[in-house]
Amino acid sequence: MDMMFSDADLVFRDEVKTFFAENLPPAVANIVRRTPSYVAKDDVVAWQKTLYKKGWIAPGWPVEYGGTGWTPMQKFIYGEEYQSAYAPRLSSFGITMVGPVIYTFGTDTQKARYLEKILSGDEYWCQGYSEPGSGSDLASLQTRAVLDGDEYVVNGQKIWTSQAHRADMIFCLVRTNPDVKKQEGISFLLIDMKTPGLSVKPIITMDGGHYLNEVFFDDVRVPVENRIAEENKGWTYAKFLLGHERTGIAGVSKSKQVVAKVKQIAGTERSEGGKLLDDADYRNRLSRIEVDLMALEITNLRMMAAMGAGKTPGPESSTLKIRGTQIEQELNELLVEALGYYALPYDASQVRPDVNEAPVGPDYSVGVMSERLLRRAASIYGGSNEIQKNIIAKAILGL
Ligand SMILES: Cc1cc2nc3c(=O)[nH]c(=O)nc-3n(C[C@H](O)[C@H](O)[C@H](O)COP(=O)(O)OP(=O)(O)OC[C@H]3O[C@@H](n4cnc5c(N)ncnc54)[C@H](O)[C@@H]3O)c2cc1C
Repeated sequence: MDMMFSDADLVFRDEVKTFFAENLPPAVANIVRRTPSYVAKDDVVAWQKTLYKKGWIAPGWPVEYGGTGWTPMQKFIYGEEYQSAYAPRLSSFGITMVGPVIYTFGTDTQKARYLEKILSGDEYWCQGYSEPGSGSDLASLQTRAVLDGDEYVVNGQKIWTSQAHRADMIFCLVRTNPDVKKQEGISFLLIDMKTPGLSVKPIITMDGGHYLNEVFFDDVRVPVENRIAEENKGWTYAKFLLGHERTGIAGVSKSKQVVAKVKQIAGTERSEGGKLLDDADYRNRLSRIEVDLMALEITNLRMMAAMGAGKTPGPESSTLKIRGTQIEQELNELLVEALGYYALPYDASQVRPDVNEAPVGPDYSVGVMSERLLRRAASIYGGSNEIQKNIIAKAILGL
């Protein structure tokens, strides 16, 4: 892959930059800058519709289904500009996860029913994989779906379901055959969140925010046409989806932005005098992370080039997930250290954008602690980093 930006790439970068400057409301960008994980759904959907109209909504999708047809380098540039404009993160459950499953394995009816609404933001999705006792060992899941005429009757529970309280649809792994090897008795269902018998209970995380939920199924009836492809083959589609989930997880552009913020805060004069950035140990830690981030960026670009050449993201995406989340967490730690006491006050506006209280510390302190606490989970969600190492050991190193 050519790592240099061509003239056409530079023109493209300008076009993206200008579009963001002209279309992203500054008030929304400001919320994203302060509290990226807690942007109101209305703001996210409004932004999604802006991108949808422009045709920039799903760079990873094939053009025939609404993708942009961009080169890997254009996708990379778009991602960088997206982050540096502080544009709201779109929900990944539709565009990055279930969308590719539907256009790859779904029927024509399913494609017509779901894809457009995923792109336009008219339907929000969540992911019903994990259960109490079935996280890393996902294939042991127990939520049962029994065929009754032309409907499945679903009973069981999902947990850690991000954004279920905002979702219209949930894609679920369910057990349709308990009598075979565990991976062979799973099916993949698309379930309307408004179906009678389905209920959502919040889980409040240690940053004080509502991001996660439990989802309960009590005789939930799901039409058989909501099953993706073959019954009992859901594990195949689930693994395909996980590969897509992990590619976006490196978070290089975001980490670069945090590096800049660390430098800004640690480079500010402290009340006791001196700058933290002048502390040799602190500077050394920051420099090492910056070097790691550069290495991650190149690895990410190599994988994007492979995908651009038609390859499906494979177990290599596990390396991005591990290093990306380690770097993210180390940087958040450095940020909190740089803020000192200002990281401590509990500030409701960090997890609730509707609260309008003045922050206790300087503006740049808002959201730092909440982001650090929520993102402690980054090495767990999307498959824990230990599990990623197992995948690398088996599938890449052949151990
Ligand atoms: C913030 C957040 C958001 C999430 N969002 C979603 C979502 O939207 N939808 C969804 O379905 N799930 C979601 N999850 C669930 C997530 O995928 C699981 O938490 C994760 O897969 C780990 O499973 P577990 O919690 O059951 O932990 P366990 O599997 O019980 O693991 C506990 C610990 O043991 C380690 N471990 C387990 N097995 C092994 C092994 N074989 N080798 C080495 N170490 C091992 C793990 O690494 C971990 O450190 C989310 C989780 C979090 C924290």
